[in-house]
Parts: sequence; C-alpha cells; structure tokens
Amino acid sequence: MPELPEVEALAGYLRQRAVGRRVDRLEIAAISALKTYDPAPSAVAGRTVVDARRHGKFLDVVIEGDLHLVVHLARAGWLHYREAFPSSTPLRPGKGPIAVRVRLDDGSGFDLTEAGTQKKLAAYLVTDPATVPGVAKLGPDALAADLPTFVERLRSRRGQVKGVLTDQSVLSGVGNAYSDEILHTAKLSPFAITDRLTDAQFATLHAATRQVLGDAVQRSLGQRAAELKGEKRSGLKVHARTGLPCPVCGDTVREVSFADSSLQYCATCQTGGKPLADRRLSRLVR
Ligand SMILES: [Zn+2]
Repeated sequence: MPELPEVEALAGYLRQRAVGRRVDRLEIAAISALKTYDPAPSAVAGRTVVDARRHGKFLDVVIEGDLHLVVHLARAGWLHYREAFPSSTPLRPGKGPIAVRVRLDDGSGFDLTEAGTQKKLAAYLVTDPATVPGVAKLGPDALAADLPTFVERLRSRRGQVKGVLTDQSVLSGVGNAYSDEILHTAKLSPFAITDRLTDAQFATLHAATRQVLGDAVQRSLGQRAAELKGEKRSGLKVHARTGLPCPVCGDTVREVSFADSSLQYCATCQTGGKPLADRRLSRLVR
C-alpha cells in the first residue's frame, strides 16, 4: 500500500508535470471508485491543475475553481503518468485495472489503476478536502509533527505501538511497511505499549519516524515517474525481508502476525533477542 513517502513522490511528480496544464477530461472507468456525484466529473473540463498535495496517504489534485480530486490508492492502487494515450476514445466502464483517467491539454495525463479483484481505490471530487471522510479524521502528519505533538498524539491512545503508529487518526501517513522500519530504527518492540514508553523512548521514536520517512521521501523523489512503483521500495531493512539478515546486526529478520496481516522485526535490535510470540499460531495450537 502506498504510504506517506510514495504519495508525497506522486504529488511531487504531478507538481512538476501536471500543474499549469488544463484538464481536457476526467473519465471514470470504475464507477464504484468515484464516491461523490456533485460536482460531476465534467466540472473539471477546461480548468487548470493548480497544485498537487498530500493529506496522510491521500493524494489531492487541486484544480482551478476550488475543485479537489482526492484519491486514496488503497492496497493495490497506483498512479501512472502517460506522455500520451493510445486513443482519444473515452474509457468505457469495465473490469480493467484503470479506475480513473485524467487527460490534460498537451495530450498527456494520468491513470489511477488498481490491481487485483478487491477494488478499494476511492476517488472523491469535492470543493473541500475536509469533506472526505478519511481526510476529516486524519491526525497530524507523521513527518511534520514536532516532538511535543508526536508524544501527545501517541500517549492519547493506549495500545501496542505498531498499531498506534499506523492509526491514521493518531498520526497520518504511516502504514504497515514504514512502521516496521521506524520501530526497527528506534530499536523498539512493535508490541511495546505506548503509555509505558519513557520520554527518551518517545524522543528516539520521533527521531526515527522523521529519519525513515524523510529518507524514503528523498529516495522516492529521486525516481522518475516510470520507476515510481508502489510495491517496489528500496532501502528497507526489515519490512518484507523475513528470513534475510538484518543489515544492522546480522540476525535473521523474523515475522509475526499482526492485525489482519503480519509484521517484520529483528529480535536482536528490537526485543532483546527474544522472538515475539505469534498469537495467531498459538491460537491455532490451542
Ligand atoms: Zn538487527
């Protein structure tokens, strides 16, 4: 799932490439992806793209006349910039991976696509991004939050730090992948309970959050759009590296179930060498 660094890179690319261009047409190929009906998609035709922003993991394409195309890419969604489209025929609603197409006045544009059969990509055409339900409840941006805000937000929710860090209403932008990386950099157990963390641990966690997200944003911005692949991240130390050596200490990266997915961690770096118990596994055994 694209997280803060990837969405930031997509917004950055659109700022370079799409801002200043007029929209020819907004085409909706997956009817279920568009969650709003007023304004209608035709409202953006002939208007100029004025900005591209990010709210947590939401991308916000700002169009002249206070129009916002707000997109949540969900698990398997992505944005593909096209220098040209093969045909000027409008997309027909169908089963393909393209959910939304935006055609610009220079013949270029972008497709919002979603792989797989689970269609969760959500697009909203609104006059105020705060009216998008997921945006309205976002906590402060994980990369922008200063230490006092960061501590206040994490202390406000008692729970395992992995879950609290990925709760978009606590802090926005961090998901499964970067929370694994942040906790590894901070040398914290993903199962540590937030209200038992010391001030020093919070300071370390805050610094790790900024470092991991900041580095990932820099790496993503350095890629060309064609190479911006949501699923292909570089520079990860533990996430999606089960069984491989930890680049810090050489221990084997382990995996344990978490929520409806799994997390990866290094026992030597994060849990005093003690492997975490897999609750899903112990439930099965019992
Ligand atoms: Zn390690």
